[in-house]
This record gives sequence, structure tokens and C-alpha cells, in this order.
Amino acid sequence: MTERANLVYLDYAASTPVDPWVAEAMAALMTADGNYANPSSTHIAGRRSVEHIEHATGQLAGLLNTAPECLIWTSGATESDNLAILGAAHYRQDRGRHLVTMRTEHKAVTDPFKALQKQSFDVTWLDPEADGLLDLAKLKAALRSDTQLVSIMHVNNETGIIQDIRRIGELCREHGCLLHVDAAQSVGKLPIDLATLPLDLMSMTAHKVYGPKGIGALYIAPRPGVHVEPLLFGGGQQRKLRPGTLPAQQIVGFGAAAAIAQSRMSDDFRHLSAMRERLWSGIRDIPGISTNGAIESAFPGILNVSIEDIEGESLLLALEPLCVATGSACNSKTQEPSYVLRALGRSDELAQSAIRFSFGRPTRPQDIDLAIDLYRNAVARLRGMSPERAA
Ligand SMILES: *Cc1c(COP(=O)(O)O)cnc(C)c1O
Repeated sequence: MTERANLVYLDYAASTPVDPWVAEAMAALMTADGNYANPSSTHIAGRRSVEHIEHATGQLAGLLNTAPECLIWTSGATESDNLAILGAAHYRQDRGRHLVTMRTEHKAVTDPFKALQKQSFDVTWLDPEADGLLDLAKLKAALRSDTQLVSIMHVNNETGIIQDIRRIGELCREHGCLLHVDAAQSVGKLPIDLATLPLDLMSMTAHKVYGPKGIGALYIAPRPGVHVEPLLFGGGQQRKLRPGTLPAQQIVGFGAAAAIAQSRMSDDFRHLSAMRERLWSGIRDIPGISTNGAIESAFPGILNVSIEDIEGESLLLALEPLCVATGSACNSKTQEPSYVLRALGRSDELAQSAIRFSFGRPTRPQDIDLAIDLYRNAVARLRGMSPERAA
């Protein structure tokens, strides 16, 4: 691809390319010689479209070991997070108005909670420990008799830190409150067995696992008391929980991406681990460098590093052909240091120098070696010394 020729793309936590097999499956549902019918139509073409959707729903359900009836299609993880949090809080508000989440969540989670605070819900914001993990004793202490919902993400999009959602879910069950998990970064990458995991709502998106942008899903556990009030009203599709014409080609894309992820998960994991190890070994000796969050607790697709005495903005400029993120993609247009890294206790200066490298299936060892060279040279130049001395 000529457009990528001079770039080193290490931003797979922001988005991934669509797998060619996925793109092919999608194209077959869009053009005049394919099946483009509205799945809500009762004629034979509409019914065929429904069959494609059912097949894809089975693929995603298979990846997660759950029943297809538990999945609602949305436009992405942002919508799923909003539907889960606003929908569950409103559905259960007569039982209590206390909610718990973490300061390190994605904006698609923190902002719905802020909106609920304005509606006089009471939100407890937990901070992680310095390693990025949630101290379960702190969660336990935060749970009250009127707590209705806890929302904790699986893999953090900036640091890669993996929370122990099984133990968090067990605590929530003991306290009779629901657990919502934003799994946008982990679906298809880490094993998730919804038949045994004690969680109630889970947000997903296709475009972080080699599927298309604009399609996501929300898992709703088949348990009494687990329900969401809809955000949208219309044609009554998806049991009125999320009406609107089902985007068959997007859904088929997510389904195909889920099937591929299921068959490749351990190979992908090994590849990502090797890429992260190669990068970290290539830069860890630079004076003043440190990882944001404990590397042992992080998903290997992400490596987030900060460096002392380097100004973040200049560092990014100096890294020009390298496509990486500072803090998080959503925040990179503002000069504010990442709130996620601040919550880990990093200083403004260290947070501002953070670079998030993230790896994917297409990442090759030579991409990592280029990134190492670019990073070492940039740091050396900004410190006003030769690369040898910076090392
Ligand atoms: C990417 C991401 C989102 C947003 O997903 P979209 O499908 O782009 O709306 C939400 N949460 C996390 C953790 C993410 O990484």
C-alpha cells in the first residue's frame, strides 16, 4: 500500500486493518449482485439477510461461549458503554443510585457516569495502584447496600493493564450489584468465557480486532435484574433494546473477525509478546525510561513508556514517520497530560512524555527495529547529545 510506504504503524490499539477475508464477506452483502436486502423485510431476500446475521451472531457468541440471544448489535464500544451504563443505572434507579467505576476508564465510560452524576446519581471513582491494577479491598470498601452498578474495563486502552474481572465480578455478585466490563481491547485477544465469568454487561467493538469500524455489541447476561433501558426508539428491532435497520454487512464483518480471532488467539498472543519483548529490550536501557503500569500485568499488544526530561510534544514531532499514540488517541489533540497516567500517580511531565506503542498481526520485527532507532535517535537529539551517549 503506497499510503503506508513511509510509515511505521504501531497504533493497533486505536484501530486495526480489516482482514481481507472479512472485507470479502462484507462486500457480498452490499452490491447489487449480493444480498443487500433489509433484514427486517419479510420477503425471501430479507430472510436470507437474517440468516447471514444469525450466522455472524453465532460466530461472536462462539468466541465468547455464550448464547446468541445475549448479544445486542450497536455501532461500537462507545454506544455499548453508554447503553450499558445509562441503561442499567436508569433501569435499577428505584433500588439505589450509587455507582462505582475507575478513573482510568475510557471516556466512553467516564462521560456517561458524569452525565449520571448530573442526574443526581452518586458515583465513586476508584484510583488504580501505581502498577495500574485495582486493589480489590478498595473496591470492596466502596460497595454499599445501594450500589447498583460497577464498571471496570478488562484491558486498559492506554497501558494495556489487565484487570482481574473474574474476582471483581465475584465481589459484585456477593454484593448484589451488576458488573459492566468494557472489553473493547480484549475481545478476540484474551480468552473470555461468558459461561463462567460472573459479569452482567460487556461492551465490544469490531475495529480493534481486524473487523470494520461502526459495529459493536453489548452482552447482556440472562439473569434476573440484568436489563437496560434503551437509548434509541424506532422500528422495534433487537427486542426494542436497540432499534434501527441491522447493518448486515457490518455484522457479518464482526462475525467473521470473531471467528478468525478465535482460531488465531494463541498465535496472535505469542506474536504480540515477541514484538513487545523486542521493543522493550531495544529501549529499556535508555536512562530515565519507564513503563506506565507494570509490564507483567499488561496485555502484550501495548507498551506505554515515559521518559524523564523530554517534552512530550517535541518527542512526538521527532518521531514523525512513526504512528503511535501519546496518552490516548482521544486526548492527543489537547495538551492535557493523560488522565489515565495521572491516575497511576505519574507526574504531569512524565505523563506528557508518554508514548503508547501498540502491535498487531501485520507488525514485523523490522517495524520494531525501525521504531527502536527512531525513538533512540529522537531522545538523543532532544537531549542534545549523540545517540551513543543517550544510550
Ligand atoms: C476503542 C475503545 C472504545 C471505543 O470504541 P468505538 O467502537 O471506537 O466506539 C471504548 N473503550 C475502549 C477501552 C476502547 O479501546
